[in-house]
Amino acid sequence: MRVRKKPWADDFINDHQEFIVLEPQQLQGKWQERFAKDQPLAVEIGTGKGQFITEMAKKYPNINFIGIELQTSVIAVALRKLVENPLPNVQLVLTDGADVNEIFATGEVDRIYLNFSDPWPKKRHAKRRLTSPQFLKGYQMVLNPTGDVEFKTDNRGLFEYSLGSFNNYGLVFDDVYLDLHRSEANEDNVETEYEQKFSAKGPIYKLVAHFKT
Ligand code: SAM
Repeated sequence: MRVRKKPWADDFINDHQEFIVLEPQQLQGKWQERFAKDQPLAVEIGTGKGQFITEMAKKYPNINFIGIELQTSVIAVALRKLVENPLPNVQLVLTDGADVNEIFATGEVDRIYLNFSDPWPKKRHAKRRLTSPQFLKGYQMVLNPTGDVEFKTDNRGLFEYSLGSFNNYGLVFDDVYLDLHRSEANEDNVETEYEQKFSAKGPIYKLVAHFKT
């Protein structure tokens, strides 16, 4: 997803660094300092405009949430939501999720959310998929032994690839849904922007998995 450059985004980000971190490596192992309370840490990679992370933070005030996003013009919209409705348990990070192991210390994270990640359908771009082995290696390093990965998508091709990728990496599947919105898990489901846009067109797939210890 490419978004038109927003001229206000850079200044807005610079002016609101209480909610957004621009040099995340400096907080490695110290993320709890950025939050009002020391509590479990969940990280969404590819957070987009922030609907999921802000709704989750309201629903689960006893969890700290970090939203990682690569694009300035996209994260600026998430940041605007936070500035207008501050939440003590949300922080945003402008960076590439490929660097998770430089941002977080070993075992610092309790859950990783991947929601509607870019599918990168061409085989030569497979390494850019957020469920490729390169990314899984980073998640394994930062997740604590009881942590897990939750992945949702409307893209069947990416879901099939991810099932294989997780399996080949040796993750253990806790839940697999081929039609999340028509499953018992839908009761607790918090929708993302993409999910709201695309769920009318076909099923939403979801998997929950953890690394073997
Ligand atoms: N999660 C949101 C949702 O479900 O509405 C946004 C989905 S959008 C298709 C994917 C988002 O992931 C884009 O905003 C994109 O910039 C971001 N993204 C892609 N690769 C990324 C990476 N390596 N690190 C951080 N963000 C990434």
